[in-house]
Amino acid sequence: MKKHEKQLKTKVNIDKQKQFLYNPLKRNTCIRNNCIKCCIKTSMLLSNRDIEKIEQLGYDRHYFTKSKKGWLKLKNKDGKCVFHNGKVCIIYDNKPEGCILYPLIFDRENKSAVVDEDCPYENCFRFSKKDIKRLYNLITQITDERKNRRK
Ligand code: SF4
Repeated sequence: MKKHEKQLKTKVNIDKQKQFLYNPLKRNTCIRNNCIKCCIKTSMLLSNRDIEKIEQLGYDRHYFTKSKKGWLKLKNKDGKCVFHNGKVCIIYDNKPEGCILYPLIFDRENKSAVVDEDCPYENCFRFSKKDIKRLYNLITQITDERKNRRK
């Protein structure tokens, strides 16, 4: 077993224990409906802060990031995000900000925040002005970081 796979296995066990103790995820729409659609073939963009946060959990950035034209995105394994074990996100408490805000996404064409119509439960989510501002800040941050990477 490769080193990163061993790390991943350890994280799965720890997080499973946490869920049984507190079970906070049951309040979550996705968990309640057993929906993992947004974690399948993910192309979630990552900020430097997201990456540092996940690295602090012990994961090597090469294990979970892929780079395309300067953008850094979550990697997939077996058709889904490397952090999804088939049931839950194993870094739920430390997931990227884009995952926290999802299904609120940035529509590049219209330059506005929209609720992703690909989410089967799009109508179950409510977003505040604060969430929208948070999304705009995130997009600005990620775009600036990409520019710096390509200098
Ligand atoms: S980090 Fe978690 S929530 Fe985000 S795509 Fe991966 S498994 Fe899903």
